[in-house]
Amino acid sequence: MKTKGLIFIISAPSGAGKTTVIKNFMKRHKKDFVLSISVTTRKPRKNEKHGRDYYFISREKFKKYIKTGKFLEYAKVLDNYYGTLKSTVLNSINKGLNVIMDIDVQGATQIRKKIPDCITIFLRPPSLKELKKRLFKRKTETEEEAKKRINLAKKELKEQKKYDYILTNKKVRDVVDTLEAIYKYEKIKNNYKI
Ligand code: 5GP
Repeated sequence: MKTKGLIFIISAPSGAGKTTVIKNFMKRHKKDFVLSISVTTRKPRKNEKHGRDYYFISREKFKKYIKTGKFLEYAKVLDNYYGTLKSTVLNSINKGLNVIMDIDVQGATQIRKKIPDCITIFLRPPSLKELKKRLFKRKTETEEEAKKRINLAKKELKEQKKYDYILTNKKVRDVVDTLEAIYKYEKIKNNYKI
């Protein structure tokens, strides 16, 4: 699949600070980037809003979307399903807008196959110890869920080599600046493609 806009995929273990990084990057790119809002069967957290953070739907509806081919990619992450709608991404890139997708390592593998030009970025926490600290501190999950996420993080960290860029989230501002540099570089690279 050839695209007009660029597709940035950002994957990170839970608690690595991906949401904050993306939010800060998007503040600088309101006009040229669209954040892909995923569909999920997970229940919303206290501060989450339908249509802003995710489209929260039932498992039945999710399965219907799979059957009717609505997803560009989807995956089961721990106990819930998450997916990216084709319409969300294609509408934007065909208008020449760039898209940021916050998806897990399974989803990234699926998109790489369909859109080889996509730019993949893996965001790491400074250490596993720091990740544990952040996950337990934010209290958005039960202790049991947080433990599951830490175990998953260990597996996900093994996948980082498959990504075009690996960034370590020590300081949000530094990561956002690096993302900015990657964007500038990729834009130039893309313009020179024959
Ligand atoms: P959370 O429950 O913390 O919001 O997300 C759990 C994981 O699901 C994260 O790794 C996040 O990147 C991933 N995720 C969110 N949306 C999607 C999606 O549309 N597709 C896939 N494959 N993963 C997603």
